[in-house]
Amino acid sequence: MENPPSPLQLVHDQIARACKVARREVSDVTLVAVSKTHPAEAIVPLLDQGQRVFGENRVQEAQAKWPALRERCPGVQLHLVGQLQSNKAEDAVALFDCIHSLDRPSLVTALAKACDKVGRQVPCFVQVDIGEEAQKGGCPIAELPALLKQVRDADIPLAGLMCVPPFGIEPAPFFALLDKLAGDNGLEGRSMGMSSDYETAIMLGATHVRVGTALFGGRE
Ligand SMILES: *Cc1c(COP(=O)(O)O)cnc(C)c1O
Repeated sequence: MENPPSPLQLVHDQIARACKVARREVSDVTLVAVSKTHPAEAIVPLLDQGQRVFGENRVQEAQAKWPALRERCPGVQLHLVGQLQSNKAEDAVALFDCIHSLDRPSLVTALAKACDKVGRQVPCFVQVDIGEEAQKGGCPIAELPALLKQVRDADIPLAGLMCVPPFGIEPAPFFALLDKLAGDNGLEGRSMGMSSDYETAIMLGATHVRVGTALFGGRE
């Protein structure tokens, strides 16, 4: 008998299916494997299967885990998907290849300074408070144009927009809104969709899906 497909293979299959329905190219969707809380032993099998883009939500945890994994696998791209404190901006810029959680003017200032100091330009998604839930972080929709202008003026490479829709209700309208906001602001990237809804997100234009549980199993 053949081996059952791995979780990574299953996620790839679902991504391919959603792309087919949406008449999109699989190569236009980046799978960010969110490995937060999971140890190196859980990450190595994905590296061995060819996965190269990973997401973490805490700077310190990523600093502890990733240098050794990167040594083993130099092509890895590390994305920060969690909220970032301004005082960690320099560490974040030194470690991550992309930041998905730029959401306020003070953080733009801190990141611009950190990029200068470290000598690295790190592409950033601006996180939008798509469901008007201030505690989740994210820029209020009304303040988005001003924040985007500030990011552009600071010469921070703008990757696109990111959102985490409210928990427990149908996410599609929020994905559609993020897609529209990205289009209205001339942005390509849409970081949206997690384990429970990445196929819907792809059908509504996601370019980056952030998938943890479906790849690694549950977290404590
Ligand atoms: C943890 C996390 C994910 C992954 O969530 P799953 O439901 O485990 O796929 C995606 N995005 C962000 C911002 C996260 O914090």
